[in-house]
Amino acid sequence: MKNILSTIILYLLVQNTSAQDSKTELNTVEKCLDFGYCIFDSIRKPDVLLLHSSYCPTKKDSFDLPCILDLYKKHDVAAHFIIDREGIIYKMVNIEQVAYHGGKGELPDKNNQINTRSIGVELINSKSSYYTQNQYASLLNLWNVIKIKYPIKIITGHAETAPNRKTDPWNFDWKYFKQLIKEDSIKVWLKNN
Ligand SMILES: [Zn+2]
Repeated sequence: MKNILSTIILYLLVQNTSAQDSKTELNTVEKCLDFGYCIFDSIRKPDVLLLHSSYCPTKKDSFDLPCILDLYKKHDVAAHFIIDREGIIYKMVNIEQVAYHGGKGELPDKNNQINTRSIGVELINSKSSYYTQNQYASLLNLWNVIKIKYPIKIITGHAETAPNRKTDPWNFDWKYFKQLIKEDSIKVWLKNN
């Protein structure tokens, strides 16, 4: 377990921040995962932020990060970031690289290059639990950094791009998140809005 933890590449100090904070700089420590991504051969400009949720189905503690990372490794998948219950953001894959998190599916413009076009963010949450305030705050902090560097036009969830296969991010409060980001130019895309 500790070996897997040691492969996490970025640790952002975002604990104990309020959801209204709008930090544009975050302290980071990088250490790459060795699975779940490919090196992209040209400059990538992702324009989609794709949200997911993950939990550990085999342990008493559903929010056990090493267990979740083991699961990713088993399936050779990864997102760029994962946010734990305390709001710590771990960077697992460099944004310049394509992470395998979206799989088959479709974006609102009918394009199916989901991994190529997106930045993937996992939030640790089970199907029956709710995100912590620290997780929303950290996602907002992350968003405020991402939006400066990348021309994101769409923020959406896995369930929206792959409705026949996926149901995450479970219990994500899209209405609240839309209020937090206050971006009129961004389409927060959900089937029902
Ligand atoms: Zn997902």
